[in-house]
Amino acid sequence: MHELSIAQALFEQVQSITAHENSRVMMIAVSIGTLSGVDSEALDQAFRITVDDTPLKDAKLQIEKVPARVICHSCNRESSPAFPFFACQYCNSFDFEIVSGRDLLLKSIELESSSS
Ligand SMILES: [Zn+2]
Repeated sequence: MHELSIAQALFEQVQSITAHENSRVMMIAVSIGTLSGVDSEALDQAFRITVDDTPLKDAKLQIEKVPARVICHSCNRESSPAFPFFACQYCNSFDFEIVSGRDLLLKSIELESSSS
């Protein structure tokens, strides 16, 4: 399962970032490009399985879907085409370069605020 390996990688990334923090991780925000092929529900489930019995078990995973962006080779404009018609939104060309939308990015980690 694709999402499980992503969830594990995400978990390790968060663990290494928060290794020296004493507060609990409350929320992990990620963004997924619509071209990444990652299903947000499947990722959420995979994440729950991965963090079970770990210090991150109470952390919420907030998933934001980000639309793909392309630069058109015909008109040189940037747009965010959406399925099912995945073409330049200005001139309908299919000759474009994908600049974003294939990645999964860790955006932020929210820690439990400690007053001390
Ligand atoms: Zn175009």
